[in-house]
Amino acid sequence: MISNLAEGVEGFTSNVYLVTGDRTVLVDVGNDFDVIARVREHVETIDAVVLTHTHPDHVGNLQAVTTAFDVPVFGYDLDASGVERAIADGDSVVLGDHTYTALHTPGHKDDHLCLYAAEPEILFAGDLVFENGGFGRTDLEEGDRSLLVESIRRVLETVEPGLEVMYAGHGRPVQTEPYQTIELAGQAARF
Ligand SMILES: [Zn+2]
Repeated sequence: MISNLAEGVEGFTSNVYLVTGDRTVLVDVGNDFDVIARVREHVETIDAVVLTHTHPDHVGNLQAVTTAFDVPVFGYDLDASGVERAIADGDSVVLGDHTYTALHTPGHKDDHLCLYAAEPEILFAGDLVFENGGFGRTDLEEGDRSLLVESIRRVLETVEPGLEVMYAGHGRPVQTEPYQTIELAGQAARF
């Protein structure tokens, strides 16, 4: 089961996905709202935090989360503030009841990860691509448009065209033609 705990929150926060199951995980923790209370509406505790990247809108609540739940924080770059355990490109990561493959996908930020499960065809896209063919900003520090285009290309090569749902760092889940949405983002990012 996957729930966006940031749904309805106004302000500068990313989405926060609570993935429940064998290993209950928060994918990103958001910023500037009481995410702990929202976690507890669903579960008593969690097993880990996995960060798609370490922009402030994705990690602002990290201290509160680790204080409340005392769980390990996984991310790509151990030098990033708050990241304790590294996920390398190609690593397997269990979220809920399924195994995801981590894809290092820089371009929006150097430590950016996407997480893909071939079974049952789910992609956590972070801020690489968004609904309606949107794509992550590349005008911030560490932003690099050609790297972003390359990362999108790599996701398209890895993800099956039958992708069922894409959960991005902002916006609603994409359940209608998510693969085509990523293709669209790839085309748009080239210009
Ligand atoms: Zn970001």
